Amino acid sequence: MKKVILLLLSLRLLEVEAYPVDAKKLVDMTYSFSDETLHWPTAQPFKLEKVNEGMTPQGYWYSSYNYSGSEHVGTHLDAPFHFAQGRWTTDQIPLDRTIGPGVVIDVSRKAQASRGYQLQVVDIRTWERRHGKLPGGAIVLMYSGWGKFWGDRKSYFGTDQEGDTANLRFPGFSKDAAEFLVKERKINAVGTDTPSIDHGPSRDFIVHRIFGGANIPIFENVASMDRLPPKGSTIYAVPMKIKGGSGAPLRIFAVLP
Ligand SMILES: [Zn+2]
Repeated sequence: MKKVILLLLSLRLLEVEAYPVDAKKLVDMTYSFSDETLHWPTAQPFKLEKVNEGMTPQGYWYSSYNYSGSEHVGTHLDAPFHFAQGRWTTDQIPLDRTIGPGVVIDVSRKAQASRGYQLQVVDIRTWERRHGKLPGGAIVLMYSGWGKFWGDRKSYFGTDQEGDTANLRFPGFSKDAAEFLVKERKINAVGTDTPSIDHGPSRDFIVHRIFGGANIPIFENVASMDRLPPKGSTIYAVPMKIKGGSGAPLRIFAVLP
């Protein structure tokens, strides 16, 4: 009898282990890393170099590669330390600060009308009127619709010239919105579907400095936000743990409600 119960218990465990999550509820919000991955005009692009690829003399397949590139390429984390001395470096960010309820603020119509749009406090307040106060530990994502430009450097950045930071045109957060989120709400992290949390024309990177100063991690070039509801998802963002880093490649995904 004991054996039967044990057998049934272990079968039950197997069943649970085989289906830990509902795959249909997962949204991968990460762009693949390759030679084509868009990078900041002054950053070193991502590169994958072949070391081995093919059948070995012993008759088995073997492949391996070296990779290199800026921390700030493709879908990535900006650690608070990026723009705030003494704040968390990439490896110091506690894991519970990169996981939280997803809040998607849709500014796509305004961003379409104005390429340099900055998310305003009123956009956050409008979201709150419809969906309630921002939940504690929220991961606040700006959805500008910029994902449709991914792969087209000129449309995505506003310029396709290497080293050209004078003509950057894409949406970001405003200084007021960043200050509001830091002072008036308790959020875990912020993200954007554009190259930077500061809008393209920014010269002082004040939004990076405000969030960094408050130890709020930033996620940039976040993909597939259009598949998320305004509220109800849970975001998991897992950066590579680079010791002393100012950022890192990021795997970010959502679990839908
Ligand atoms: Zn960055």
